[in-house]
Amino acid sequence: KLPKIAWIGLGIMGSPMAENLIKAGYDVTGFTLEQDKLDRLAKNGGSAAASVAEAVRDADVVITMVPADPQVKAVILGEDGVLARARRGATVIDMSSITPQTSVAVAEAAAALDKDLSVLDAPVSGGEAGAIEAVLSIMVGGEQAVFDRSKPILDALGKTVILCGPHGSGQTVKAANQLIVAVNIQACAEAVVFLEKSGVDLDAALDVLAGGLAGSTVLARKKDNFKKRDFQPGFRIDLHHKDMGIVSDAARSVGAALPVGAVVANLVASLRAQGDGGLDHSALLRGVERLSGV
Ligand code: NAD
Repeated sequence: KLPKIAWIGLGIMGSPMAENLIKAGYDVTGFTLEQDKLDRLAKNGGSAAASVAEAVRDADVVITMVPADPQVKAVILGEDGVLARARRGATVIDMSSITPQTSVAVAEAAAALDKDLSVLDAPVSGGEAGAIEAVLSIMVGGEQAVFDRSKPILDALGKTVILCGPHGSGQTVKAANQLIVAVNIQACAEAVVFLEKSGVDLDAALDVLAGGLAGSTVLARKKDNFKKRDFQPGFRIDLHHKDMGIVSDAARSVGAALPVGAVVANLVASLRAQGDGGLDHSALLRGVERLSGV
Protein backbone atom coordinates (compact mmCIF):
# COMPACT_ATOMS: atom_id res chain seq x y z
CA LYS A 1 0.00 0.00 0.00
CA LEU A 2 1.31 3.45 -0.92
CA PRO A 3 2.16 5.80 1.96
CA LYS A 4 -0.47 8.40 2.86
CA ILE A 5 0.73 11.93 2.09
CA ALA A 6 0.05 15.30 3.74
CA TRP A 7 0.96 18.31 1.55
CA ILE A 8 1.42 21.75 3.13
CA GLY A 9 1.73 24.76 0.78
CA LEU A 10 -0.27 24.57 -2.46
CA GLY A 11 1.14 27.55 -4.38
CA ILE A 12 2.55 27.88 -7.89
CA MET A 13 4.75 24.81 -7.30
CA GLY A 14 2.88 22.89 -4.58
CA SER A 15 -0.45 22.58 -6.41
CA PRO A 16 0.81 20.85 -9.56
CA MET A 17 3.28 18.73 -7.52
CA ALA A 18 0.55 17.48 -5.17
CA GLU A 19 -1.62 16.73 -8.21
CA ASN A 20 1.17 14.63 -9.72
CA LEU A 21 1.22 12.49 -6.57
CA ILE A 22 -2.56 12.04 -6.83
CA LYS A 23 -2.13 10.98 -10.49
CA ALA A 24 0.54 8.48 -9.35
CA GLY A 25 -2.04 6.90 -7.03
CA TYR A 26 -1.18 8.50 -3.68
CA ASP A 27 -3.82 9.57 -1.17
CA VAL A 28 -3.04 13.29 -0.59
CA THR A 29 -4.49 15.55 2.10
CA GLY A 30 -3.47 19.20 1.76
CA PHE A 31 -3.48 22.45 3.66
CA THR A 32 -2.60 25.93 2.41
CA LEU A 33 -3.70 29.49 3.20
CA GLU A 34 -5.80 30.18 0.06
CA GLN A 35 -9.28 28.61 -0.08
CA ASP A 36 -9.28 28.48 -3.93
CA LYS A 37 -6.13 26.31 -3.85
CA LEU A 38 -7.79 23.95 -1.33
CA ASP A 39 -10.86 23.75 -3.59
CA ARG A 40 -8.60 22.97 -6.55
CA LEU A 41 -6.95 20.09 -4.63
CA ALA A 42 -10.33 18.62 -3.67
CA LYS A 43 -11.58 18.94 -7.26
CA ASN A 44 -8.52 17.08 -8.50
CA GLY A 45 -8.92 14.08 -6.23
CA GLY A 46 -7.20 15.16 -3.00
CA SER A 47 -8.68 16.05 0.39
CA ALA A 48 -8.63 19.55 1.87
CA ALA A 49 -7.77 19.91 5.57
CA ALA A 50 -8.60 22.88 7.80
CA SER A 51 -5.15 23.14 9.43
CA VAL A 52 -1.61 21.77 9.37
CA ALA A 53 -2.47 19.62 12.38
CA GLU A 54 -5.48 18.07 10.64
CA ALA A 55 -3.56 17.44 7.42
CA VAL A 56 -0.62 15.64 9.04
CA ARG A 57 -2.46 13.71 11.75
CA ASP A 58 -2.44 10.28 10.07
CA ALA A 59 0.05 10.88 7.24
CA ASP A 60 3.03 8.58 6.67
CA VAL A 61 4.88 11.29 4.74
CA VAL A 62 4.48 15.07 5.19
CA ILE A 63 5.69 17.32 2.37
CA THR A 64 6.05 21.09 2.81
CA MET A 65 6.38 23.61 -0.05
CA VAL A 66 6.09 27.11 1.43
CA PRO A 67 7.88 30.37 0.55
CA ALA A 68 10.82 30.80 2.93
CA ASP A 69 12.48 30.21 6.34
CA PRO A 70 9.80 31.95 8.48
CA GLN A 71 6.99 29.86 6.97
CA VAL A 72 9.00 26.63 7.29
CA LYS A 73 9.69 27.44 10.96
CA ALA A 74 6.01 28.21 11.60
CA VAL A 75 4.64 25.21 9.69
CA ILE A 76 7.16 22.56 10.80
CA LEU A 77 8.48 23.77 14.18
CA GLY A 78 5.40 25.70 15.41
CA GLU A 79 3.30 24.70 18.39
CA ASP A 80 0.60 23.05 16.26
CA GLY A 81 3.07 22.31 13.47
CA VAL A 82 4.21 19.27 11.57
CA LEU A 83 6.70 17.89 14.11
CA ALA A 84 4.32 18.33 17.03
CA ARG A 85 1.35 16.78 15.25
CA ALA A 86 2.83 14.16 12.92
CA ARG A 87 2.30 10.56 13.90
CA ARG A 88 5.21 8.50 15.28
CA GLY A 89 7.53 7.24 12.56
CA ALA A 90 6.46 9.79 9.92
CA THR A 91 8.85 11.19 7.29
CA VAL A 92 8.97 14.98 6.79
CA ILE A 93 10.24 16.20 3.40
CA ASP A 94 10.69 19.98 3.11
CA MET A 95 10.84 21.00 -0.56
CA SER A 96 10.87 24.78 0.07
CA SER A 97 14.07 26.71 -0.80
CA ILE A 98 15.46 27.91 2.55
CA THR A 99 18.78 28.33 4.37
CA PRO A 100 20.81 25.16 5.02
CA GLN A 101 20.90 26.13 8.74
CA THR A 102 17.11 25.96 9.04
CA SER A 103 17.07 22.53 7.35
CA VAL A 104 19.65 21.33 9.89
CA ALA A 105 17.60 22.88 12.72
CA VAL A 106 14.49 21.04 11.50
CA ALA A 107 16.38 17.73 11.46
CA GLU A 108 17.73 18.37 14.98
CA ALA A 109 14.29 19.34 16.32
CA ALA A 110 12.80 16.17 14.81
CA ALA A 111 15.50 13.98 16.37
CA ALA A 112 15.02 15.64 19.78
CA LEU A 113 11.32 14.70 19.88
CA ASP A 114 11.97 10.97 20.17
CA LYS A 115 9.02 10.17 17.87
CA ASP A 116 11.13 8.24 15.36
CA LEU A 117 10.63 10.99 12.75
CA SER A 118 12.78 11.14 9.60
CA VAL A 119 13.61 14.36 7.76
CA LEU A 120 14.88 15.31 4.29
CA ASP A 121 15.53 18.70 2.71
CA ALA A 122 14.55 18.36 -0.95
CA PRO A 123 14.38 21.71 -2.76
CA VAL A 124 13.69 21.69 -6.48
CA SER A 125 14.62 23.38 -9.74
CA GLY A 126 12.68 23.46 -13.00
CA GLY A 127 10.05 26.09 -12.33
CA GLU A 128 6.30 25.88 -12.72
CA ALA A 129 6.66 24.03 -16.06
CA GLY A 130 8.94 21.44 -14.43
CA ALA A 131 6.43 21.01 -11.59
CA ILE A 132 3.49 20.52 -13.98
CA GLU A 133 5.39 18.06 -16.18
CA ALA A 134 6.97 16.23 -13.19
CA VAL A 135 10.48 16.72 -14.56
CA LEU A 136 11.95 18.73 -11.67
CA SER A 137 15.55 18.39 -10.54
CA ILE A 138 15.35 17.48 -6.85
CA MET A 139 18.43 18.07 -4.67
CA VAL A 140 18.23 16.14 -1.45
CA GLY A 141 19.96 16.36 1.95
CA GLY A 142 19.62 13.70 4.63
CA GLU A 143 20.29 10.04 5.34
CA GLN A 144 20.70 7.44 2.59
CA ALA A 145 18.08 5.04 4.01
CA VAL A 146 15.44 7.79 4.28
CA PHE A 147 16.30 8.94 0.75
CA ASP A 148 16.00 5.38 -0.60
CA ARG A 149 12.58 4.79 0.86
CA SER A 150 11.32 8.27 -0.17
CA LYS A 151 12.67 8.04 -3.73
CA PRO A 152 9.47 6.63 -5.33
CA ILE A 153 7.57 9.71 -4.12
CA LEU A 154 10.25 12.10 -5.40
CA ASP A 155 10.39 10.21 -8.70
CA ALA A 156 6.69 11.01 -9.19
CA LEU A 157 7.58 14.74 -8.97
CA GLY A 158 10.88 14.97 -10.83
CA LYS A 159 13.23 13.46 -13.35
CA THR A 160 16.64 14.05 -11.71
CA VAL A 161 16.55 13.07 -8.04
CA ILE A 162 19.93 13.03 -6.28
CA LEU A 163 21.09 12.72 -2.66
CA CYS A 164 23.76 15.43 -2.27
CA GLY A 165 24.90 14.77 1.31
CA PRO A 166 23.74 15.23 4.93
CA HIS A 167 20.93 17.52 6.17
CA GLY A 168 21.17 20.97 4.55
CA SER A 169 23.14 19.77 1.50
CA GLY A 170 20.09 19.91 -0.75
CA GLN A 171 19.69 23.59 0.22
CA THR A 172 23.35 24.35 -0.44
CA VAL A 173 23.04 22.91 -3.96
CA LYS A 174 19.77 24.81 -4.51
CA ALA A 175 21.54 28.04 -3.47
CA ALA A 176 24.16 27.37 -6.18
CA ASN A 177 21.33 26.71 -8.63
CA GLN A 178 19.75 30.09 -7.88
CA LEU A 179 23.11 31.85 -8.34
CA ILE A 180 23.54 30.26 -11.79
CA VAL A 181 19.96 31.00 -12.84
CA ALA A 182 20.05 34.67 -11.78
CA VAL A 183 23.37 35.35 -13.51
CA ASN A 184 22.12 33.54 -16.63
CA ILE A 185 18.86 35.54 -16.74
CA GLN A 186 20.79 38.78 -16.30
CA ALA A 187 23.16 37.85 -19.17
CA CYS A 188 20.22 36.96 -21.44
CA ALA A 189 18.45 40.21 -20.52
CA GLU A 190 21.56 42.25 -21.36
CA ALA A 191 21.83 40.42 -24.72
CA VAL A 192 18.15 41.09 -25.52
CA VAL A 193 18.47 44.86 -24.94
CA PHE A 194 21.76 44.95 -26.87
CA LEU A 195 20.25 43.03 -29.82
CA GLU A 196 17.09 45.14 -29.96
CA LYS A 197 19.01 48.41 -29.78
CA SER A 198 21.22 47.09 -32.60
CA GLY A 199 18.15 46.53 -34.78
CA VAL A 200 18.76 42.78 -35.22
CA ASP A 201 15.69 40.52 -35.53
CA LEU A 202 15.28 39.16 -32.00
CA ASP A 203 13.58 35.90 -33.02
CA ALA A 204 16.36 34.98 -35.42
CA ALA A 205 19.04 35.99 -32.94
CA LEU A 206 17.60 34.04 -29.99
CA ASP A 207 16.96 30.95 -32.14
CA VAL A 208 20.55 30.77 -33.36
CA LEU A 209 21.94 31.60 -29.90
CA ALA A 210 19.84 28.79 -28.39
CA GLY A 211 21.57 26.29 -30.71
CA GLY A 212 25.12 27.21 -29.68
CA LEU A 213 27.11 27.37 -26.45
CA ALA A 214 24.97 30.34 -25.35
CA GLY A 215 21.92 28.07 -25.27
CA SER A 216 20.46 27.30 -21.85
CA THR A 217 17.27 26.18 -20.17
CA VAL A 218 16.88 29.80 -19.04
CA LEU A 219 17.09 31.08 -22.62
CA ALA A 220 14.67 28.41 -23.91
CA ARG A 221 12.13 28.87 -21.12
CA LYS A 222 12.28 32.66 -20.76
CA LYS A 223 12.55 33.59 -24.46
CA ASP A 224 8.84 34.36 -24.79
CA ASN A 225 8.80 36.30 -21.52
CA PHE A 226 11.61 38.49 -22.87
CA LYS A 227 10.03 38.92 -26.31
CA LYS A 228 6.51 39.72 -25.09
CA ARG A 229 7.60 41.53 -21.91
CA ASP A 230 5.33 39.02 -20.17
CA PHE A 231 6.45 39.08 -16.54
CA GLN A 232 3.57 37.11 -15.03
CA PRO A 233 5.18 34.69 -12.49
CA GLY A 234 6.56 31.91 -12.76
CA PHE A 235 9.13 32.59 -10.16
CA ARG A 236 8.74 35.86 -8.32
CA ILE A 237 11.56 38.40 -7.95
CA ASP A 238 10.74 38.42 -4.20
CA LEU A 239 11.62 34.71 -3.99
CA HIS A 240 14.81 35.12 -6.01
CA HIS A 241 15.81 38.02 -3.73
CA LYS A 242 15.39 35.63 -0.80
CA ASP A 243 17.55 33.03 -2.60
CA MET A 244 20.33 35.53 -3.44
CA GLY A 245 20.46 36.33 0.28
CA ILE A 246 20.77 32.62 1.08
CA VAL A 247 23.61 32.03 -1.40
CA SER A 248 25.44 35.25 -0.39
CA ASP A 249 25.38 34.32 3.31
CA ALA A 250 26.29 30.68 2.67
CA ALA A 251 29.19 31.62 0.37
CA ARG A 252 30.50 34.19 2.84
CA SER A 253 30.40 31.64 5.66
CA VAL A 254 32.74 29.32 3.73
CA GLY A 255 34.92 32.07 2.25
CA ALA A 256 33.79 31.64 -1.39
CA ALA A 257 33.79 34.83 -3.50
CA LEU A 258 30.74 35.62 -5.65
CA PRO A 259 31.80 38.83 -7.44
CA VAL A 260 29.27 38.60 -10.29
CA GLY A 261 26.65 37.01 -8.04
CA ALA A 262 26.89 40.01 -5.70
CA VAL A 263 26.19 42.44 -8.56
CA VAL A 264 23.21 40.40 -9.78
CA ALA A 265 21.91 40.12 -6.19
CA ASN A 266 21.98 43.93 -6.12
CA LEU A 267 20.08 44.19 -9.40
CA VAL A 268 17.42 41.79 -8.06
CA ALA A 269 17.16 43.87 -4.87
CA SER A 270 16.87 47.05 -6.93
CA LEU A 271 13.95 45.69 -8.97
CA ARG A 272 12.22 44.76 -5.76
CA ALA A 273 12.82 48.22 -4.31
CA GLN A 274 11.21 49.67 -7.43
CA GLY A 275 8.01 47.70 -6.78
CA ASP A 276 8.62 44.80 -9.16
CA GLY A 277 8.95 42.07 -6.50
CA GLY A 278 5.76 40.34 -7.63
CA LEU A 279 6.95 39.95 -11.24
CA ASP A 280 8.67 36.92 -12.75
CA HIS A 281 12.50 36.92 -12.45
CA SER A 282 12.71 37.40 -16.24
CA ALA A 283 11.79 41.01 -15.33
CA LEU A 284 15.54 41.52 -14.73
CA LEU A 285 15.11 42.69 -18.36
CA ARG A 286 13.25 45.74 -17.02
CA GLY A 287 16.26 46.71 -14.95
CA VAL A 288 18.57 46.48 -17.97
CA GLU A 289 16.09 48.56 -20.00
CA ARG A 290 16.04 51.27 -17.34
CA LEU A 291 19.85 51.34 -17.23
CA SER A 292 19.88 51.52 -21.04
CA GLY A 293 17.34 54.32 -21.30
CA VAL A 294 14.71 52.16 -22.99
P1 NAD B 1 3.84 30.48 -3.68
O1 NAD B 1 3.89 31.76 -2.96
O2 NAD B 1 3.13 30.39 -4.99
O3 NAD B 1 3.20 29.35 -2.73
C1 NAD B 1 3.49 29.22 -1.37
C2 NAD B 1 2.32 28.54 -0.69
O4 NAD B 1 2.65 28.36 0.70
C3 NAD B 1 1.03 29.37 -0.72
O5 NAD B 1 -0.01 28.60 -1.32
C4 NAD B 1 0.73 29.64 0.75
O6 NAD B 1 -0.64 29.51 1.09
C5 NAD B 1 1.49 28.51 1.45
N1 NAD B 1 1.78 28.89 2.83
C6 NAD B 1 2.50 29.95 3.29
N2 NAD B 1 2.49 29.97 4.64
C7 NAD B 1 1.75 28.91 5.03
C8 NAD B 1 1.34 28.39 6.29
N3 NAD B 1 1.71 28.99 7.44
N4 NAD B 1 0.58 27.28 6.31
C9 NAD B 1 0.20 26.68 5.17
N5 NAD B 1 0.54 27.11 3.95
C10 NAD B 1 1.31 28.22 3.88
O7 NAD B 1 5.36 30.00 -3.85
P2 NAD B 1 5.97 28.96 -4.91
O8 NAD B 1 6.39 29.72 -6.11
O9 NAD B 1 5.10 27.77 -5.03
O10 NAD B 1 7.34 28.58 -4.14
C11 NAD B 1 7.38 27.70 -3.01
C12 NAD B 1 8.83 27.39 -2.71
O11 NAD B 1 9.43 26.73 -3.83
C13 NAD B 1 9.71 28.62 -2.41
O12 NAD B 1 10.64 28.33 -1.41
C14 NAD B 1 10.38 28.86 -3.76
O13 NAD B 1 11.62 29.55 -3.60
C15 NAD B 1 10.56 27.46 -4.28
N6 NAD B 1 10.65 27.31 -5.74
C16 NAD B 1 9.79 27.98 -6.57
C17 NAD B 1 9.90 27.82 -7.96
C18 NAD B 1 9.00 28.57 -8.93
O14 NAD B 1 9.31 28.57 -10.13
N7 NAD B 1 7.92 29.19 -8.50
C19 NAD B 1 10.85 26.95 -8.48
C20 NAD B 1 11.68 26.24 -7.61
C21 NAD B 1 11.56 26.44 -6.24
